[in-house]
Amino acid sequence: MHYIAVCILSLLTCCLTFPLPQEAGNVNEQQWEKAQEYLKKFYSYKPEERINNLQNKIKQMQKFFGLTPTGILNANTMEIIQKPRCGVPDVEEFSLIPGKPKWPSKVVTYRIVSYTQDLPKSTVDYLVDEALTMWSKASSLVFKKVRKGHADIMIGFARGAHGDFNPFDGPGGILAHAFAPGKDLGGDAHFDNDEQWSDGSKIGINFLFAATHELGHSLGLGHSSDPEAVMYPTYTHKNRKDFGLSKDDIKGIQNLYKKR
Ligand SMILES: [Zn+2]
Ligand SMILES: [Zn+2]
Repeated sequence: MHYIAVCILSLLTCCLTFPLPQEAGNVNEQQWEKAQEYLKKFYSYKPEERINNLQNKIKQMQKFFGLTPTGILNANTMEIIQKPRCGVPDVEEFSLIPGKPKWPSKVVTYRIVSYTQDLPKSTVDYLVDEALTMWSKASSLVFKKVRKGHADIMIGFARGAHGDFNPFDGPGGILAHAFAPGKDLGGDAHFDNDEQWSDGSKIGINFLFAATHELGHSLGLGHSSDPEAVMYPTYTHKNRKDFGLSKDDIKGIQNLYKKR
């Protein structure tokens, strides 16, 4: 009698522990959860569409980052998944951004609506100006700063939920996001105020690097799979003197807007 009871119990325990699918490779449960969240956010993975979809999404992500597309999570893939990055998906949803949105006029207005406690306001102003100058030098665009009312590109810092259904996630993870050109939220760039922002002189996320990347989205560029590109989705710390638009970024912006 006693023996039977033990048997049933162990059977139950066995049924309650879900084995991870083959696509999980050797990762642990926590990493598996993180990977699924990542694929949902950045590769429009929908778990209800089941198995094949999952393998394809892992392959798609691996291809984007220049890894061997095995469709199975491995150490290289997990390493990228754990890096801090931009919140904009690597694969745009057609339903959200149809066509190639761009600003119709070569004069684009911007306004800085809120700041971070980590940097003096004048530093943020200066770095935004520096980021926009990079993009305008490579294209026909001219940026005009406004101090009140609506601007094409509204720039600000916020934490957690901030009114656009894309809540920030606290320190690390998603650092910032921006919207492609368009009305209302279109063109706006938001920076997660739970990050430690830096001008490069202290430890923290370099605001110039993040701003140049996000403003690229504000102008209509998507993510690049070229690790040298400013439009690469994960954050990499570089020396200031090595930072600038890559050939790939310049090709992108000149595809949307003519040369100067
Ligand atoms: Zn991005
Ligand atoms: Zn936002």
